[in-house]
Order: sequence, then structure tokens, then C-alpha cells
Amino acid sequence: MTDSTTAGVPQERRLVTAVPGPKSQQLLARKNAAVANGVAVTLPVFTARAGGGILEDIDGNRLIDFGSGIAVTTVGNSAEAVVRRATAQLADFTHTCFMITPYEEYVEVAEALAELTPGDHAKKSALFNSGAEAVENAVKIARAYTKRQAVVVFDHGYHGRTNLTMALTAKNMPYKNGFGPFAPEIYRVPVAYGYRWPTGPENCGPEAAAQAIDEISKQVGADNVAAIVIEPVLGEGGFIEPAKGFLPALKKFAEDNGIVFVADEIQSGFCRTGQWFACEDEGIVPDLITTAKGIAGGLPLAAVTGRAEIMDAAHAGGLGGTYGGNPVACAAALGAIATMKELDLNAAAQRIEGIMKPRLAAMQEKFDVIGDIRGRGAMIAVELVKDPATKEPAPELTGAVAKACHAAGLIVLTCGTYGNVLRFLPPLVISDELLNEGLDLIEEAFAAQL
Ligand SMILES: *Cc1c(COP(=O)(O)O)cnc(C)c1O
Repeated sequence: MTDSTTAGVPQERRLVTAVPGPKSQQLLARKNAAVANGVAVTLPVFTARAGGGILEDIDGNRLIDFGSGIAVTTVGNSAEAVVRRATAQLADFTHTCFMITPYEEYVEVAEALAELTPGDHAKKSALFNSGAEAVENAVKIARAYTKRQAVVVFDHGYHGRTNLTMALTAKNMPYKNGFGPFAPEIYRVPVAYGYRWPTGPENCGPEAAAQAIDEISKQVGADNVAAIVIEPVLGEGGFIEPAKGFLPALKKFAEDNGIVFVADEIQSGFCRTGQWFACEDEGIVPDLITTAKGIAGGLPLAAVTGRAEIMDAAHAGGLGGTYGGNPVACAAALGAIATMKELDLNAAAQRIEGIMKPRLAAMQEKFDVIGDIRGRGAMIAVELVKDPATKEPAPELTGAVAKACHAAGLIVLTCGTYGNVLRFLPPLVISDELLNEGLDLIEEAFAAQL
């Protein structure tokens, strides 16, 4: 870790009050009075500053960050290059609307996306504000290109909280319950979830692909499908890596049937899994790729990038938005991408995996409630079960372990359709010392619960 990524925040855990402390408790009361209950918080410590692998709260506690604001601050909070470029841009101009009078930073981000995303075909991009907006636009573009309507998504998939993306998302609570009706022409098929595949993980990839393709063919009709939308590593659904062979089979099916293959890399992209994009792991070249989260060091930015002929299918004026590709967010993205290259954050993510996986495997030896360890790079998770033989999900235990970690000064998140997955998304610039200390705290949290 270098000073360019720590924002001057001391890289050590420190607890000076209970977590959350008295100042955070006071602010929480104000939050509860003024902010809608639907906007819930995982851990009510109010942030004072953050950098590297540490988040400091307003009571002076310093917490180790295994969340990165949900895989966003990959380069660290307030990373030097992000702050420098965004600050310079703030001083020049804050907004013109790219659709009215354009600016170079937007074009530069589009050029960087063309360079970094898989495939050497001609590519174009369109920029937006949020991941959900990017996914919605990928669907618009695929429909315009194919002149078809159906969209295929997967069990355990997560694509956002807007109306169309709620329909694409698998899990009812908390994302969809009571918020319907949902958009039509969305079809959900099985995903290759190795740990829970009835015939075992070895058979899962090809079997799940055959099942998914059969359902698409029989229930939807391949000729009606505009797009197949999938996360190459499923995020909110439980950090599920589709078993080997699944993604290539779906990609080939899409290719054979004129279907636009969309990789939603909003969580898995930008070095998170130890590659620029997770789909590279099996050599997948998506037709369209959606990005957001890690792209801009914390500023709101999202993109759809893909084959030029597909991207150009939408008519002039058909894509855009007032703030899409805001100049400050674009400048931040250029700073974040430069940092990823300069510090080789793909290698950093691989190093993080190399530290985390063996330590989690050692914990699994001690705690048999750890049913599965999975993920790649700095996108790692453990799935907790009541009994490894039945694999019955253990969501209460998962919540209790997360709470114990929080109290000890470690930010961890949960996920999974059954709420039984602890996920770890440290900033890629975290030091090995903080990483190991965080793992110690996880181990202690398990020991205290069991
Ligand atoms: C977070 C996420 C989204 C939605 O992004 P927002 O910026 O929250 O709208 C979509 N897809 C995936 C895979 C995500 O992880």
C-alpha cells in the first residue's frame, strides 16, 4: 500500500467507544426521524473519513473495511489520483450535459472502456449514473438491435432496484416485495450453482447450461430473445461462480441464435476478481458489458460498452440522461483507472485471494458451519449452513457473525438468496496486515458464536 491510496488515514484498527459510539447513536436517531425507513443501514457508524483499508467514524473508531461500500472503493477511499482529477474538474466546470455540449473526459472514459473490456472488435460506450441505469440501457440497446423483446436472466441474479431491474432481479425480499407490477418479457432460468447442484459441482456446469438452454428454447423460443443478462460472478445472490462450462455454453447458444450476450460486471469488474473483468476467466467476450461500482473510486458513474454495431442500433437521442457521464465522475474514473494500472490492482486482488482462501479453509476445518468457500480475487465469500450434510442455510448465524465482526471493528457484508453468505470485498489497496487482522476477527467471531 502506498500513501496515494490511504488518504492520510492511519492504517490501524482502533476502538475508542462501543460500535456504534455515542455520536453515531445520536446521528442515527436523526437519521431515523428524517430518512425513509426503506433506506436501511447495515452498520450505523457515521463516517468521518476513510482511506486504504480503514474507515474512521465520528466517534474516532477506526474500522477495517472488508466492504468497500459494496465493491466501489477498489482503489481506496479518496485515492490521490481520484481526488486530484475530480478536484481539477470541479474547478473547471461541474456540468454541461454531454448531450448538449460535450467534453473530452467522457470520450476518454469511453476509450478506456474500449481498451480494457474483453475482445478486439470495434467498441462503443454510453455512460450513465448507476448500475441499474446501465443494465436498463443494455436491455434497450439489445432490443433495438435484435428487434426482439424477451430477456433471459438467472436464479440468484441481481441487477438493480428500478422497475425493469427489479424484474430482472431474482430475490423478492427486500428488493421486490410489494413494489410490483414488474416489467413483462423477463424469463428466469437456472444458474450453475455448484455447491447446491443436486448431482454435485463436477457435473453442474454442463447440466445447468443444458437445463437453462432447454427452458429458453421450450418456454421462450430462442428467436424471441433479445438478450441473455448474467453476472459472471453473481454478487448479491451469494458470490456464486457459475460452474465451469456454464458461461461458455450460454455464450455459444446466444451466438448461434442471434441473442445479445450481456455480462453484468457491475460488481465483478475493474480488477475485483483479479482480472479486469470476471468473464475473462473463461475467455468470454460479451457483446455488451455493464460496469459501475468500482469504475470511478466512489463517484456515481456507470457504462454500457459493447460491439459498435449493437451499441449504434439505438437511434440518435434514444440514449442518455441529464447527468449521465458527469464530468467530475468521468475525471474520477480516469484517476481510478490510472491507479488500477499503476499499482497493478489485478495482482493485488490475486494476492488478497492467496491470503484469504487458505485462512478461510483453515477456519472451515474448525467450524463445519462453513459449507463453502468461493469467489475470486478480492470477491470472496463463505456460505454458512446449519449442517454440512443437509446444507440447510444458516442466516441467523450469518447475521450474528457479521454483527460480532462489526462490534470488533471490522466491516463485513452479507448476501445470498438465503441470507447465509458472508462476503468480503476489501479495497484492493488494503495492507496484508489489515487483511490478516480482519481474518483474525472473523475467526474470533465464529469461535464466539459456536
Ligand atoms: C450493484 C449492482 C447493480 C446495481 O447498481 P446500482 O448502482 O446500485 O444501481 C446491478 N448489477 C449488479 C451485478 C450489481 O452488483
